[in-house]
Amino acid sequence: MKIAILSQNPALYSTKRLKEAGEEQGHDVRIINYLRCYMNITSKKPTIVYGGKPLENVDAIIPRIGASKTFYGTAVVRQFELMDVFSPNESQAISRSRDKLRSMQILAREGVGLPVTGFAHATQDIDGLIDTVGGAPLVIKLLEGTQGIGVVLAETYQAAKSVIEAFRGLDANILVQEFIKEAGGADLRCFVLGDQVIAAMKRQGAQGEFRSNLHRGGNAQKIALSPEETDTAIRAAKAMGLKIAGVDLLRSNHGPVVMEVNSSPGLEGIEKATQIDVAGKIIGFIAKNAVEADNSNRIKY
Ligand code: ADP
Repeated sequence: MKIAILSQNPALYSTKRLKEAGEEQGHDVRIINYLRCYMNITSKKPTIVYGGKPLENVDAIIPRIGASKTFYGTAVVRQFELMDVFSPNESQAISRSRDKLRSMQILAREGVGLPVTGFAHATQDIDGLIDTVGGAPLVIKLLEGTQGIGVVLAETYQAAKSVIEAFRGLDANILVQEFIKEAGGADLRCFVLGDQVIAAMKRQGAQGEFRSNLHRGGNAQKIALSPEETDTAIRAAKAMGLKIAGVDLLRSNHGPVVMEVNSSPGLEGIEKATQIDVAGKIIGFIAKNAVEADNSNRIKY
């Protein structure tokens, strides 16, 4: 099979591992920098040109679209869809997952457990916004943040008010969330592939840090999920329409709550913590599903 990995950086652990696993399983794998693709969307035969040549006979793509390149990246994925190339994560689902607010609305609609969350544009009624999540302490998040940057714990009502005012003064979109103290600075990363969780790890924040991001000095360990946690992760990925997803859960007093569903989950942390060949499983899944794929129901653009 011909598989194209859409990635800006061939040196990234995840990209390298997927290429390696694909080749081990006998596929022809190419890394394509999607930012250097251009598209012919006017002809009857949609094409993608890369390095001056049309990309032909690709059977499947693995999109690894950077968060800041979602707009162009999803356009390239969409073009592959028009060409009937299999993608485990479709462009629609990737776009959906990149919008934190939209994601939470979708998950809420599907009855997936979430932290109590408030969102507002205007700040005239900050008190009301703080009240919706049960008052301080609370967590304030920049909608555009990643890797824990822009996630603030406000311990008091006054701190919450100041931070909300400051963020809003910068015209940033924010959401306000109940603080899940009982999570103890840890979260669970559940790697969902199809309708299974294939690997899971617990990330624990550094001493005194409520954010568990590995980029913020946290550490990771393999963990066995409860049936409820497994079920929540699978339902979250399904609600978002993602076949490959990193679902982040917090253990709260009211059961597992989803913080985020990531459409390009990294492989390094999870493979190293669990010793599971996640890349190999992804390739196996793609090989099986690209053949069986029925794209007739896909929304055409
Ligand atoms: P990012 O997408 O930037 O990583 P997250 O929303 O995942 O931001 O938050 C970063 C970390 O902060 C999480 O992994 C978690 O450990 C912690 N965190 C986020 N929201 C809450 C919350 N409501 N209660 C407790 N801890 C939280």
